[in-house]
Amino acid sequence: MNSTGDGTPRSSTIITRVELHTFAFPIEHRSAHGLHTVNRTRVAVRVFTADGSIGEYVGGNETMISQAKICGRKLVGYSAFERELYFDAMKRDLRKNDKMGISPFDIALWDLAGKRANLSVSQLLGGWRTRLPAYASTWFAGDETALPTPQSFVDFAERCYEMGYRAFKMHGWETGDVAKEAAAIRLLGRTMGGRMALMHDAACHLRTFADALAVGRACDDAGFLWYEDPYSDGGLSAFAHKKLRQLIRTPILLGEHVRGLESVATLLLAEGSDFVRADPDFDLGITGTMKIAHLAEALGLDIELHAPGPAQRACMSAIRNTNFYELSMVGPSGGIFTQPSYTCGYTDHLEKVGPDGCFPVPTGPGLGVTVDWDWIAAHRTELNVYQGKN
Ligand SMILES: [Mg+2]
Repeated sequence: MNSTGDGTPRSSTIITRVELHTFAFPIEHRSAHGLHTVNRTRVAVRVFTADGSIGEYVGGNETMISQAKICGRKLVGYSAFERELYFDAMKRDLRKNDKMGISPFDIALWDLAGKRANLSVSQLLGGWRTRLPAYASTWFAGDETALPTPQSFVDFAERCYEMGYRAFKMHGWETGDVAKEAAAIRLLGRTMGGRMALMHDAACHLRTFADALAVGRACDDAGFLWYEDPYSDGGLSAFAHKKLRQLIRTPILLGEHVRGLESVATLLLAEGSDFVRADPDFDLGITGTMKIAHLAEALGLDIELHAPGPAQRACMSAIRNTNFYELSMVGPSGGIFTQPSYTCGYTDHLEKVGPDGCFPVPTGPGLGVTVDWDWIAAHRTELNVYQGKN
């Protein structure tokens, strides 16, 4: 094909330069025992067409970097509009891996397409939601955190309720403490049930199927909306979770650790989960996430997107079969998941929720955010630039 749909010569939309920036930044977390600082490593990408269009993305994580180097190098030479062709080619090239490295570039291509058309990615996807109901998704519990006891979860849930949140998800004790976990769940159910939708995410830290069953029965007693990644199978075993679903009443949410359309389809058709999970940062971009959303729609199931971010907001605006925006990882000291790399006021800070318990969908062209490239450069640890024939 020699021209794009609007008559633009294909040659002018060719990707001629790709930048992959790796950066690290400190996150401060105040606990009952003082201030902890941990470093987070993320990536930022910029893709350029022959005629000067630019697509941008910031996010991801450290483990995707080696894959992203392959995907960035190979993007040079594609038309910016050939997202599905690129998606398919990278799927094959990364067939021995989890394929997360595709995501930054797919999302940057959606950003570029929106900016070029002067439309938001939400509009390109057919989005109609403008406000996204959010849930406060907590830090893990533990003696050295600001969430050391079951009562501390209730106190924090009350504070979130006052801010406007009408949904709350707890992450429990990473030591796999079944008794504390079950106590916190039952206490939340008694005190917050009926006022907030309540969820539990064990994030695979319970050791055994028996532990998962015991905590699941607490979720049943407390009327929880979902029970996520119960135990140490890694959030992967369709067989075990089908069994668990037969033994408890609380819906299971599995899929945060199951990557991509085909693997999620296999999980769902084996009846391993009630809710469906996807994350545009990890599940092969906006393209991959919308494929999973439509798979869930075809099966009559709801998809709940993982973590906050501009791409999550755009996708959620256009998905009927979804319920909540995940505002993670937060606690009594606040907490912010999204790196402070925007100059446009975009934020996923706990206290920036609206009184309606919602966060807005950006309306500007592309992802609708303005990346602070000076901030990225100041925190950069590595820069890879790809151009010319690869
Ligand atoms: Mg989770």
